Amino acid sequence: MQKGEDIKSCNPSDLLCVRKLCVWHPIRKFLTVSGYIRALDDVSFDLERGRILAIVGESGSGKTTLGKTILKIHQPTKGRIIYDGKDITFIKGKEIKWYRRELGYVQQDPYGALPPFMNIRQILEEPLIIHGIKKSERIYKVREVLEEVKLIPVEDFINKYPHMLSGGQQQRVVIARALILRPKLIVADEPVSMLDASVRIEILTLFRELQKKYNLSIMYITHDLSTTKYFSDKIAVMYAGHIVEMAQTYKVLSKPLHPYTQSLIKAIPDPDPRNRTLFREIPPGEPPSLLNPPPGCRFHPRCPYAMDICRREEPPVIEVDGTHTVKCWLYG
Ligand code: SF4
Repeated sequence: MQKGEDIKSCNPSDLLCVRKLCVWHPIRKFLTVSGYIRALDDVSFDLERGRILAIVGESGSGKTTLGKTILKIHQPTKGRIIYDGKDITFIKGKEIKWYRRELGYVQQDPYGALPPFMNIRQILEEPLIIHGIKKSERIYKVREVLEEVKLIPVEDFINKYPHMLSGGQQQRVVIARALILRPKLIVADEPVSMLDASVRIEILTLFRELQKKYNLSIMYITHDLSTTKYFSDKIAVMYAGHIVEMAQTYKVLSKPLHPYTQSLIKAIPDPDPRNRTLFREIPPGEPPSLLNPPPGCRFHPRCPYAMDICRREEPPVIEVDGTHTVKCWLYG
């Protein structure tokens, strides 16, 4: 595929447009490469301005690698990443600095993400200093963003160190740091998975409010499909380095097409005691090794509907109703 074709196929309403993205990590033995871990293979999706795309899947599905590749922490092996109409796949130097200013990153572990030897003011000022914001503006911006994440009164928090805050307060600081340069895109990798259940909804509600206020686009990476109903517009389901299903959130949750998505949805705990069963249906078996994935459909060893063709040939991505795509021979 030509570089120009990739850009042409992106819609101006999309902030991020990813085409046939591959990330293969080489396995080296002495001086030779003995194989590749195919962490991402042929991943394509669009993220509209002001929308939230949830990337869901089990550990090892490639969702964190995808987030880190968009953040330019991992280098793509092949494919294209188009951000705001510009091809940023292999940018370097000053362009990386520009691109990083456009992005915010919210990590899973708030305590690990915050340097313990810096207080909250220093943590929030750091990105402003790196990007050359004048000292007179910096304190105003720090106070403003602390108010936005509801760490108020600001005086009670600004001089504290991370260990003096609760997990929920630490994650508010992480969100404040991600927002302080007014990015257009946020990559949020399991932003609430390490918080108590009671705090999760508070943090997601706050995040949603800020997303609407600033018309942010968010890549919301999670293994927890139950939160996507409240916190995403569209879902991409990942399995073993591929996107296997993608559609608007209500479509994926109400009418999942891929057998893997169906089993993930059946595994969501139901709070209604009348619907509780001792064993919820989870996909049997383990995700495959990405060093030596199975031929054909990578889900076939775990799939109750596997056919001969599934064991031989990789399924194509099939458009089922224009906006709902699935990578499965059942629809071919
Ligand atoms: Fe199952 Fe075949 Fe579909 Fe893969 S392609 S999910 S093995 S039915």
